[in-house]
Amino acid sequence: MKKADKIWLDGKLVDWDDARVHVLTHTIHYGVGVFEGIRAYRTADGRSAVFRLPEHLQRLFDSAHIILMEVPFPLERLHEACLETLRANRQPEGYLRPVAMYGYGSMGVGAINPVQVFIATWPWGAYLSDDGLKRGIRAKVSSFARLHVNVNMVRAKVSGQYVNSFLANREAVLAGYDEAILLDGEGYVAEGSGENIFMVKNGTIFTPSLASPVLAGITRDSVLRIAGDLGIPVVEQKFTRDTMYLADELFMTGTAAEVTPVREVDNRRIGAGQPGPITKKIQDVFFRAVHGEEQRYSEWLTYY
Ligand code: PMP
Repeated sequence: MKKADKIWLDGKLVDWDDARVHVLTHTIHYGVGVFEGIRAYRTADGRSAVFRLPEHLQRLFDSAHIILMEVPFPLERLHEACLETLRANRQPEGYLRPVAMYGYGSMGVGAINPVQVFIATWPWGAYLSDDGLKRGIRAKVSSFARLHVNVNMVRAKVSGQYVNSFLANREAVLAGYDEAILLDGEGYVAEGSGENIFMVKNGTIFTPSLASPVLAGITRDSVLRIAGDLGIPVVEQKFTRDTMYLADELFMTGTAAEVTPVREVDNRRIGAGQPGPITKKIQDVFFRAVHGEEQRYSEWLTYY
């Protein structure tokens, strides 16, 4: 990864190499931390803006609420801190990673240690490759099921829950695919290891509803709004893996993955085996929106 100059740690900007924590930081051992992934883009007018910053920070606080964590800074302070860090790093675009974690103090799984917060930013290109964005990726249904609602807090972006994503992603990549698609505990399609999933059939977009064990993705929400504004019908409901094989188009959404077409699942070609017209239209409007070229979505951008 490319280093930046500074990281915001517990209220102060410190040098990148000095942003350290103790090895007995509770979250390292038990994964009880919350985080966000956010992107900033250069806009068409030469400025820079963070995409949906308030929504990401609200989700960070919601995640903390779910796991009974008190974030020791108000949301407004972290909002400012994200912008300060980008400015300090002179980063006109890139990725932001705020984390709130239980720090050093006691050990034992139920220990409640002081909460530490940091925000790192760094340059980051296409997550599933530029080629993937253009031509579509190859995905594999995972042997790992998505988190079950009685086992984990699926609405929260909790660090430890990403062991599930890690295992699924590694399994898929080691088998020669680009990304994993996880089914829920009942066998219905849930989401990718770090992306929500959308299917197009006969002109209608389908995606699992938030009653499924999926993260309430902010890109997902943006795509639902864009599809609605384009007059494309959207149905939020579960679908099976074979229904997905028969889709006309398939795509994944996420802050890192943006809007990435899926051209093949489990060695079955999806539609024509290349990004379809609805995927391309949504992708086009999404990229115009993040770059400040869609007036109707200007409220999604925080300029810095
Ligand atoms: N699902 C999972 C499991 C994720 O980790 C992410 C990435 N945060 C997403 C979906 C997509 O969410 P968003 O669009 O808010 O990045």
